[in-house]
Amino acid sequence: MARVCVLGPSGRMGRAVLDAAAGQDDIRIAAAVGRPEASGLGATVGGVVATADLEAGLAACDVYIDFTTPAATRAAAEAAARHRRAAVIGTTGLGPADAAAVEQLARVAPIVVAANFSLGVNLVLGMVRQAARALGPAWDAEVVETHHRAKRDAPSGTALMIARAIAAGHGADYDRVKRHARDGDVGPRPRGEIGVASIRGGDVVGEHTAYFFGPGERLEISHRATSRAIFAGGALRAAAWVCRQPPGRYDMLDVLGLQ
Ligand code: NAD
Repeated sequence: MARVCVLGPSGRMGRAVLDAAAGQDDIRIAAAVGRPEASGLGATVGGVVATADLEAGLAACDVYIDFTTPAATRAAAEAAARHRRAAVIGTTGLGPADAAAVEQLARVAPIVVAANFSLGVNLVLGMVRQAARALGPAWDAEVVETHHRAKRDAPSGTALMIARAIAAGHGADYDRVKRHARDGDVGPRPRGEIGVASIRGGDVVGEHTAYFFGPGERLEISHRATSRAIFAGGALRAAAWVCRQPPGRYDMLDVLGLQ
């Protein structure tokens, strides 16, 4: 039985995690911690009272689940390092200092970090890498992602994972071949470039397509999430799993046994 502290309990993903935990017997919600100005503080969620007391939340749990903002993820990782607390981190758009705080935590505690906790997307990562290896850079690879209008970061963390998997299949350094925006006279598409485009609107949970354009044919590998429950279920599975691991940084392929 893993005791879990949920950060951001009134957020879209925080609520999905609390809902999904209700049906699980290997998980118990031990604390829910929101930001000090959050509206839901004092309410009972998942059987606990939501507070803004991060230290008490971390002290009460075996593992915390974090789908918040880059700044909150950094602050939580710094506090968790003092508690040597396991973590499941799904926040995307982390800057270098946020990512460094997460790496520091991985030195003293087991953590799972994933831009996408769905089984389907993690299978897609293996497929696009295999396709890119087989087809090579002669087939133009592009990634298109679509998300709801409230999403802050672009491209999505998942699109970046997919694009990096394509680069790995090509044997290329992603940072040298990436193209995250095109505007104006950008000239002909260079061989080996990997483009990523973002669409925002409505309430789309998350859609990703990797395109491979060959001469006279094209391959598309797509994933469409229709419910946040898939991410929440994956995060809870990661939480139960990570508590049993030695300190280090893991991803969802480790949790699923697909590495
Ligand atoms: P959201 O805006 O609905 O929720 C974020 C929550 O974090 C809010 O409730 C906010 O009050 C809370 N928060 C902010 N600062 C805090 C602090 N200091 N302490 C505690 N809580 C704090 O956003 P969302 O749609 O739930 O997404 C959250 C993050 O998760 C985003 O980065 C998103 O891209 C990512 N995400 C990841 C996955 C995945 O599978 N890895 C899936 C969906 C979303």
